[in-house]
Amino acid sequence: MCLEGTEATSDEVAAQKRPGPSGHFVNRSTDVVIVGAGAIGCCIAYRLAQKGIRVSVVERERPGSGASASAGGILGAQYEATGPGPLLDLLLASREAYPDFAAELQADSGIDIEFRLSGGLRLILDEEDEAEARRCLQWQKAAGLPAELLSASSTLAEESALSPEIRGAILFPQEAQVGNRKMVEALATACGRLGVEVLCGEEAVRFHPREHRLESLETSSQSLSAQTFILAGGAWSQELASRMGVHLPVFPVRGQMIQLQINPPPFRRLLFHRQAYLVSKPVGRIILGSTMEKVGFDRRVTAEGLHRLTGAAARMSPLLGGAEVVQTWACFRPGTPDGLPILGRVQPYENLLAATGHFRNGILLTPITGQILAEMVAGVAPSIPIEPFRPDRF
Ligand SMILES: Cc1cc2nc3c(=O)[nH]c(=O)nc-3n(C[C@H](O)[C@H](O)[C@H](O)COP(=O)(O)OP(=O)(O)OC[C@H]3O[C@@H](n4cnc5c(N)ncnc54)[C@H](O)[C@@H]3O)c2cc1C
Repeated sequence: MCLEGTEATSDEVAAQKRPGPSGHFVNRSTDVVIVGAGAIGCCIAYRLAQKGIRVSVVERERPGSGASASAGGILGAQYEATGPGPLLDLLLASREAYPDFAAELQADSGIDIEFRLSGGLRLILDEEDEAEARRCLQWQKAAGLPAELLSASSTLAEESALSPEIRGAILFPQEAQVGNRKMVEALATACGRLGVEVLCGEEAVRFHPREHRLESLETSSQSLSAQTFILAGGAWSQELASRMGVHLPVFPVRGQMIQLQINPPPFRRLLFHRQAYLVSKPVGRIILGSTMEKVGFDRRVTAEGLHRLTGAAARMSPLLGGAEVVQTWACFRPGTPDGLPILGRVQPYENLLAATGHFRNGILLTPITGQILAEMVAGVAPSIPIEPFRPDRF
């Protein structure tokens, strides 16, 4: 199995793509085929394999090579929700699942996914922030969520390296973070130990339907037949779905990121502002993110993007002006027209499920998505109502 950071060698990829000894593509059969080895596809595979189901995951690059290894790792259920509703319920359920999920993954993979209950501060720097913070606090309190308004001095007592211009903050004590790259690595490792076949360097090319069922998937080197197919192609899901004549309105939303290095580490909490966020990782690494751009599949990091992010960061904390820029990158959130994920059966096929469109929250939503899809495959009613996320709602 190939993992993020341990790329398959060109020989390995070539071997995977080679047709069988007869010169024809190999035809194989399994229980479930998942397309996409991001956090979502890998977590579904993990949950299914734990139930003894045979799973193959088809991934054209490596596990995590899409959005999942590019994310900030924020588990920000309260910061991300704009009000009560199905998305908030899903986000909270997944955040609640994280401590046990992290412990279980560590036991099954030997990898610490760096889950930290760091808490988050939503910073108030100007009048617009003040108005938004008042609105946010009001509905969160009414919903019974843990959130507290801090004065300027209490905010600076929490994080002394913040700007002296700070007017206050909302403290969300239950917000958390995870090492998203470690998480994908842990999921892929645990999958491997449970016998999941992760086919790296394999493009899902064509699906073969018969009436209302999909019979097989043709990849770049083989044909895989299965009882159930799951589409977990992240921002590329629309194109994938179109290969079976189905429309899923998932579109890419580019996010540019900067990794800074500063010692000693200046912050403990997640820091949110409407223009940027800061995530403090181990040993003085800070992730500064992220732009939100509808520019198609253009993965470039731009001067304007960097300018916007560094400008916003300097407003949050002038100290960051002296931080070293270690790395920059960009990738694509899987966006949907209503901002909700797409979970469930894809018409007209009886045996096709989608788990995509997680937009800004796919890392947070990984455990709950794995659980829901495993329940659906097993024919059990999902533990969370998935009606609002149905693929045919558009
Ligand atoms: C800059 C940035 C920051 C983010 N920060 C956060 C955050 O802090 N917290 C959070 O919760 N979420 C965050 N997100 C969102 C989160 O990363 C995504 O919602 C999540 O990673 C989606 O996971 P996925 O598995 O669905 O997609 P991906 O990780 O994109 O995986 C899809 C996989 O499908 C494969 N694939 C596609 N088409 C094919 C094909 N035809 N054949 C074979 N394989 C195929 C791709 O190669 C890819 O590996 C962020 C996203 C970005 C871009």
